[in-house]
Amino acid sequence: MIGKATGLPLEAALANGGVAHPALEKPSPLLQRGSAHVEMHGQRKGWGNAPRRGRLGSGGGGLVDLTCKFDVLVVGGGNAALCAAISARRSGASVLVLEAAPRFYRGGNTRHTRNMRCAHDSATETLTGPYTEEEFWDDLLRVTGGHTDEDLARFMIRQSKEMLPWIAAQGVRFQPSLGGTLSLGRTNSFFLGGGRAMLNALYLTAERLGVEVAYDAEVVALEIDAGMFLSATVARGEEHIVVRAATLVAAAGGFEANIEWLKIYWGEAADNFLIRGTPYNRGGLLKTLLDHGVGQVGDPTQCHAVAIDARAPRFDGGIITRLDCVVFGIVVNKHAQRFYDEGEDVWPKRYAIWGRLVAAQPDQIAYIIFDAISLGLFMPSLYPPIEASSIGGLAQKLGLDSDALEQTVRAFNAAVRPGTFDHTTLDDCRTEGLRPPKSHWARPIQTAPFYAYPVRPGITFTYLGTRVNKQARLLMADGKPSSNMFAAGEIMAGNVLGRGYAAGIGMTIGSVFGRIAGGEAAANARN
Ligand SMILES: Cc1cc2nc3c(=O)[nH]c(=O)nc-3n(C[C@H](O)[C@H](O)[C@H](O)COP(=O)(O)OP(=O)(O)OC[C@H]3O[C@@H](n4cnc5c(N)ncnc54)[C@H](O)[C@@H]3O)c2cc1C
Repeated sequence: MIGKATGLPLEAALANGGVAHPALEKPSPLLQRGSAHVEMHGQRKGWGNAPRRGRLGSGGGGLVDLTCKFDVLVVGGGNAALCAAISARRSGASVLVLEAAPRFYRGGNTRHTRNMRCAHDSATETLTGPYTEEEFWDDLLRVTGGHTDEDLARFMIRQSKEMLPWIAAQGVRFQPSLGGTLSLGRTNSFFLGGGRAMLNALYLTAERLGVEVAYDAEVVALEIDAGMFLSATVARGEEHIVVRAATLVAAAGGFEANIEWLKIYWGEAADNFLIRGTPYNRGGLLKTLLDHGVGQVGDPTQCHAVAIDARAPRFDGGIITRLDCVVFGIVVNKHAQRFYDEGEDVWPKRYAIWGRLVAAQPDQIAYIIFDAISLGLFMPSLYPPIEASSIGGLAQKLGLDSDALEQTVRAFNAAVRPGTFDHTTLDDCRTEGLRPPKSHWARPIQTAPFYAYPVRPGITFTYLGTRVNKQARLLMADGKPSSNMFAAGEIMAGNVLGRGYAAGIGMTIGSVFGRIAGGEAAANARN
């Protein structure tokens, strides 16, 4: 039990105008009554009698009073954080969420998501068939090439079976799979309205349950003593505010938005990377935890990276800048040379390698070239393709050497063997005698107008993270479990994803470990 907790039942603790919700499973024995106040979204509740240390705007017009010691402090504002916060609150804990972003941008990379991958034994209203634990495990093993903690991964997969009903119980709605190139209708559940709608549902539930949320609240330091969390420091401009809690759940994402950190591994090339998600995932919390002796997991050079429209903004371009038309044309670098087999395998198995492939090209730029026959066969980018009536004209518009591009296209066209084009299977349309080959879906590029999309590496998220066990409890570098620190989501994804990616697994990792972390943190605070 926390030092100053009074053990008041929920109703009593909330008597001062607090928020009660029928969905709250257990009354909180940990809610405290005292002189300080929390004002949230026009509501007020009394708890906490610690010395006043500061207040933070809640984003709803109210103030979160930080004078009280919370049971569970959740750092982050995406799926993992909200699952942890809801789970902890439903277990009876007082919970504070600190989100670095302003309210409008709350929710990190989760805002951009569309679906999550969970094991299930039979078809549902929105899923076309069963996806067994064993099949999920086989997929994970294949995409990671064995770079995963099997025990933890199998545990996560087993737990994922409970996630669809659990997430739905938090107000999230699902819809049948969207069409397109990734063919996920059986394995992945799509959020009705996308990631942002999913997040809004989680925030609404959390707020109704009485979770406190402070926005513009970046955690810049942690006080940790021998693996035990004591307090966090929040930066507000010049102001630094100390927040105390009995337990910590770290759910602050990876470090993909920190270009300087990426440069340590990628050099100057990182200046040409586009970050598909939030600019707030700068890895500050991750670094602080590692500096305080938390065990590290994952290869710092590993990340999920896809080819995205080079005209996308530096941050937060999201899903609408991804380009899925590689298989329909050829891809050349700034010297107008092809560099990889565009038809090596079906797109769901290959889309996540193209970010790295482009990163390895000069100036980290490439161009997908296709013709009028292929336009309309794929989901376009937000930006229109660059169009010209000849290959030479297209080269000029792209700033490429016309002769070189004409020669590359001529050589490609000459190598294409006749076949029956079918972009839904590994068809027999291939090149012969060309290096690199195009193994499937090879058709001559000869029907004007001709099109191009410029592409750059789009970094989705990084894999370097904190080591955890099945309780989502942080493990210190010496292998000992932390007494009161937990982690969920991208910040610990490297435990399961050492390499590669299976679409929808980012949200599985966040939901499964977030729910566990919240429950364990609440139980920890009680002891
Ligand atoms: C364009 C795009 C599409 C994607 N689509 C999918 C998909 O369909 N399915 C899927 O499974 N995965 C998808 N992903 C990956 C997915 O977004 C992540 O795996 C998942 O959202 C991670 O959740 P999280 O809560 O760990 O991190 P995030 O959702 O990124 O949240 C991290 C939070 O931490 C906050 N934060 C960071 N530092 C601090 C700090 N120091 N103090 C306080 N707060 C801090 C951030 O503001 C943010 O709110 C996609 C990613 C992108 C970029």
